[in-house]
Amino acid sequence: MLFCTLSSGSSGNSVLLSHDDTNILIDCGRSGKHICSRLQELNIPPESINAILVTHEHSDHTCGLGVFSRKFDVPIYTTNGTWEGINNSSTIGKISERNINTISPYQTFDIGNIKIVPFQIPHDANQPVGYRFLAGNTVVACATDIGYLSESVVRGVAGANVVLLESNHDVDMLMRSTKYSQQLKNRILSNEGHLCNNHAAAFASYLAKNGTEHILLGHLSEENNDPEIAYNTTANALAAKGIDYKRDVFITVARRHELSEVIRI
Ligand SMILES: [Zn+2]
Ligand SMILES: [Zn+2]
Repeated sequence: MLFCTLSSGSSGNSVLLSHDDTNILIDCGRSGKHICSRLQELNIPPESINAILVTHEHSDHTCGLGVFSRKFDVPIYTTNGTWEGINNSSTIGKISERNINTISPYQTFDIGNIKIVPFQIPHDANQPVGYRFLAGNTVVACATDIGYLSESVVRGVAGANVVLLESNHDVDMLMRSTKYSQQLKNRILSNEGHLCNNHAAAFASYLAKNGTEHILLGHLSEENNDPEIAYNTTANALAAKGIDYKRDVFITVARRHELSEVIRI
């Protein structure tokens, strides 16, 4: 299996999971052109994408969705609430009926040889979900845009070999920001906002103790975080728990505009 982010953070999100002959995108929050360029770096033709799974309707997850689905005739999978949100708020354009698939949290479905379980995430969107994938003996989970570590998030990702985990902001940087209104700060800090570095770090220790081998920290804020700060916060938390973060678990930070570390497992 191959897993990496094509783009991660407030400027747009898209993730690739590839197993056997099946290629899945999770979110399509950059232009079609940007996503095609990243796929080209991986030697994966855009025509070979079998499905786009959407986490929620926010534009940093959906802005390239319509174009990509139309151009390459790719089926879209979303919850009912997310599909409504996409149609209400964005300019997705016309998607052919046969490419619209609605899914529900905790109802497992298959694409190729990959089993997928959507799970609820706490975020200020209609019906947002994270995804857990089982391919062969490998489990991968994606959990970004999470206000806090709810029971459903913990269950959704626990025990996965690879986890894409949100490490959105450094709380002090966010509090000091002069660019963000108090209202926006409150939204980010709320239980339906985004996960801060400290909470990601504490959870990373839990994951490492429960079998996770690779943690990809993602969805970093451009204004209120820094890849080094996010990495060090998690690395220090692991070290404080006696976990060797260069041997027991591997941590990397997803890049904003480029491919992340390409994880092959
Ligand atoms: Zn969001
Ligand atoms: Zn987002």
